[in-house]
Amino acid sequence: MLRRQKGAILVLSGPSGAGKSTIINAASEEIGEYYFSISTTTRAPRVGEENAKDYFFVSKESFEEDIKAGNFLEYAEVHGNYYGTSLKPVREALGAGKLVIFDIDVQGHRLVRAKMNDITTSAFITPPTLAELEKRLRTRCTDSEDVIVQRLENATKEIEAVGEYDFTIINDSVDEAAQEFVIVAKAARLKQSKEAEAQFIAQWLR
Ligand code: ADP
Ligand code: 5GP
Repeated sequence: MLRRQKGAILVLSGPSGAGKSTIINAASEEIGEYYFSISTTTRAPRVGEENAKDYFFVSKESFEEDIKAGNFLEYAEVHGNYYGTSLKPVREALGAGKLVIFDIDVQGHRLVRAKMNDITTSAFITPPTLAELEKRLRTRCTDSEDVIVQRLENATKEIEAVGEYDFTIINDSVDEAAQEFVIVAKAARLKQSKEAEAQFIAQWLR
């Protein structure tokens, strides 16, 4: 039987407050088995966030040790804190043939593309306007005024990278955005790695 590739990556980026978590949650029943990459960060947990579920919350020293040890697939400084993706669980999930979903910033997307382009699909998620983003950050009530100002400023830079992504999902209605996300996740699974492509051709010709 012809077999498809083992594992694929779906990178989601977009301003903080764009609705990435909301959309993943709304679509999770419909996208089949996946592994959500839990990032490590030096930022403080928000109210309601849990260690090892939302993030691995660590000190700056511990994060810098992991950098030295080469434990990150990618990492970046965002809003004055470190955020990074540990390599080991991602390798394991890919080896098990899973779709691995990353919620990372535009710098992280570039690094993942540089390392694993052939199995990567990406989507940029954004509210319809900057004004709507501001409204949502304020309604979420999880960030101080300073942090909100910093996130909005960062968003005006991040939006410039929208063209680097395979897909754009405008999160106006959650239901519609979740349906678009389901389509993107299904497409991501169909992406063949170079290795799988060579195997496929060899088997096909047999
Ligand atoms: P992110 O994970 O991208 O930082 P969240 O999923 O936490 O964003 O969403 C930010 C806030 O906006 C949350 O309070 C969420 O309930 C709200 N939100 C998400 N999508 C929508 C939408 N389509 N319309 C209105 N509010 C939304
Ligand atoms: P937040 O503080 O709102 O959870 O996340 C802030 C930003 O950091 C978001 O743009 C989010 O996508 C990004 N981010 C979260 N985890 C990672 C990661 O592991 N690597 C990178 N490069 N960015 C991340």
